[in-house]
Amino acid sequence: MVLELKTHMAKDWRGYKGRPFLISGPCSAETEEQVMATAIQLAQIKEVSVFRAGIWKPRTRPNSFEGVGTEGLKWLRTVKQETGLMVGTEVANEKHVYEALKYGIDMLWIGARTSVNPFTVQEISDALNGVDVMVFVKNPINPDLELWIGAIERISRAGITKLGAIHRGFSTYEKTIYRNQPNWQLPIELRRRIPDLPIICDPSHISGSREYLHEISQKAMDLNFDGLMLESHIDPDKALSDAAQQLTPNDLKELLSRLVLRNPVTSDPKLLDILGELRLQIDVFDDALIDILEKRMKVAETIGQYKKENNITILQTTRWDEIIKKVMINGQLKGLSREVIDTIFKAIHQESINHQMKIMNNGITNHVKRKQ
Ligand code: PEP
Ligand code: MN
Repeated sequence: MVLELKTHMAKDWRGYKGRPFLISGPCSAETEEQVMATAIQLAQIKEVSVFRAGIWKPRTRPNSFEGVGTEGLKWLRTVKQETGLMVGTEVANEKHVYEALKYGIDMLWIGARTSVNPFTVQEISDALNGVDVMVFVKNPINPDLELWIGAIERISRAGITKLGAIHRGFSTYEKTIYRNQPNWQLPIELRRRIPDLPIICDPSHISGSREYLHEISQKAMDLNFDGLMLESHIDPDKALSDAAQQLTPNDLKELLSRLVLRNPVTSDPKLLDILGELRLQIDVFDDALIDILEKRMKVAETIGQYKKENNITILQTTRWDEIIKKVMINGQLKGLSREVIDTIFKAIHQESINHQMKIMNNGITNHVKRKQ
């Protein structure tokens, strides 16, 4: 189902300076000096539209720095007055919303630990009813698109039209190079489900370290995201939260200068012709892939029939090992990555098992009846 929400596109928002719609600032507001020094430098970067700073910080363990609280809202107000930047902070309950609005905060975001909880999102939505403020909903920590969409709908129902989503990656138990897994297919599917909703990528929380910020930002731009949220601190190594992933304003400027922004659409008729033809070819190959898969499943079902008649288990590990080894070699010879071969063949194998399972369990009651 494709959802229509009453949202403006980011480019219609006050303060939009072109793609990427850039939100930057420290993970946390720590002192007035740190906030002001960072903001003054960020205001000199032409792409920055919104200055962000966490005032109330959700921390994994107690006794970590949990934010300066309401005091910091005054600093954000000063940033707005002195630099002309819009200012934004995270809200996690109705009290945060009321406090932030009292201090004229322009943008509120709902963090990943809050968007998982429909009770809290509803509480925030009720507090926002009828207010004209910009709101971003970060993805929930777990990769659940429906939960993300549900949170966006709740905020939309409060009448918020300057509404957007932030993709900040998803938590996994396994340690990977990134702090949070991007699972790009989720924001892509979100775009398909709510085509007019602006989507911002937060490479800082996906990466967890400075090292991968550029490649993640570039990927988000190539996928036609509307903007980026990048954490920036005047002295990142001394930051009280998320020190490893924050950039100095200078390094942020350098990262932005290396970003390649491609056009999402073209009106050049010749190029459209060529692309149209190539897309037709892709459609033909996609149809052929589906036909091949259907044929493969038919064979799997026939094997299932034999296994059933001869009482053999479905899963035969040595056969599966053989298949995966063979396709890995073959795939790599054809320039396909190990990762894609692994993902595709695991999915195909699982589908084959499901088809065989259906065959083997079909008529099982007859078989039992016959035995009695
Ligand atoms: C943040 O933006 O600093 C933050 C806490 O984000 P998240 O909710 O994505 O962890
Ligand atoms: Mn942070």
